[in-house]
Amino acid sequence: MKIFTMCMECVKELGHPSYEPIIASYYDESIAIVECNRGHKSALLLQSLKFEVLMESAANALIEGYTLEASTVFYSAYERFFEFCIRVLCNNRGINKAEFENTF
Ligand SMILES: [Zn+2]
Repeated sequence: MKIFTMCMECVKELGHPSYEPIIASYYDESIAIVECNRGHKSALLLQSLKFEVLMESAANALIEGYTLEASTVFYSAYERFFEFCIRVLCNNRGINKAEFENTF
């Protein structure tokens, strides 16, 4: 998946954004390593939950006209949302992680 960002080191040095769009790829780790044209290297940590990332990806696929891919990813987001809800409920009710993982 892709994330759009700008270089924060350039913002610090120049006092304003460099207006260089940086598009970085990220995967399951939700970390993207980027480098701007001025040589600044940064690591971006995506803080969104997995179902949120999938939902955005599905929406982008739908906007681009890829309806089959969009429906597949929307369904994955739906499953990850239920997984998230189940984890929250289990945590709230004191079910330990090992027991949860065995059941899941
Ligand atoms: Zn920079």
